[in-house]
Parts: sequence; C-alpha cells; structure tokens
Amino acid sequence: MATVRSRLGRPRDELGDPLSLTAWLVRHDLPPAAEPDPADVREFQALREAAYRLLADVTEGRAPAGADVELVNQCAAHTPPAVSLAVEEDGGVRRAQAHPTPAQALGLVARDLVDLVGGPLRGRLHQCEAEVCGTFFVDTSRAGRRRWCSSATCGNRARVAAHRDRAARP
Ligand SMILES: [Zn+2]
Repeated sequence: MATVRSRLGRPRDELGDPLSLTAWLVRHDLPPAAEPDPADVREFQALREAAYRLLADVTEGRAPAGADVELVNQCAAHTPPAVSLAVEEDGGVRRAQAHPTPAQALGLVARDLVDLVGGPLRGRLHQCEAEVCGTFFVDTSRAGRRRWCSSATCGNRARVAAHRDRAARP
C-alpha cells in the first residue's frame, strides 16, 4: 500500500509499470522468475487498492466491502512458490532464493495481508495522521499511541507545521 506516496495529496504511484514492479519485487526479496507484464501490474495495483480500502474500513471499525475481501482471497489462493534448501561450498545450509512467478508473488503479498488483518496485529493497525500521507502502519510501540508512519518524515513535518502555527499566532 505504501507504493502510493502522498495518497491523500498528489498521489505518486511507485508500481506504475512492469519495470517498477520488478524493482519492487527485487527489493522485497522476491526476484521474479519472469518479467511482469502490464496485466501483472494491473493485478498488483488492484490488490493494493482493495487492501487500502479494506484497511481503511477495518481501522475505522466498518465492515469491509465484500468485493475487496473477495479479491484479496482470490489473490491469496495462488499457490506459493516452492521453498528449498541450498548447500553452500563450505557445507553451510541456507534457504535457496525463490524466484516466484508474478502470480505467486501476488499470492504471497495477499497471504501477508490475510495474516495481518486476520491476526493479532489487526488492533495495532493505524493510518498515518499526516495530512497527505495515508500510509498504514503497524504500531509496535509499547504504549500503542504512534500517530505517524515515520517520526522522521511525517512526524517531523507535523511538528514543524505546529510550531509554525504557534509562531504565527498574534
Ligand atoms: Zn505518514
């Protein structure tokens, strides 16, 4: 969901074409077996938008739309990529790098979402309070009172704005 920046302001899509989808998959340790095509991009975007609406509903205490739940479930039904062990030259064993197809990668993302929304972290989900951000985050702080997706960016901007408002008051 964070692949749309400034969602509530002037949105910028970081998953807009096959090349940026590939880069995103590589960054998330899911280098694809085959180059995604425009249809794959549309599927990832559709899942992302359904996930956004679903989280907005869940965090506001509303029942999610049936179509969004259905889309997430359809994506999560994709068979995940096989996992395997690889033995290194020195005899060490590690998990081999998976190269999922775009559909398998979509399935993994959807499964994560199912675990997130259907699991114990649901109560820790929040939307960033910064005006234009819209990012959802999991608040892992002990007090559970985090307001921004990032204290360094959105939190800092909000503090600067609050300071400016106070300074401007006569
Ligand atoms: Zn934010």
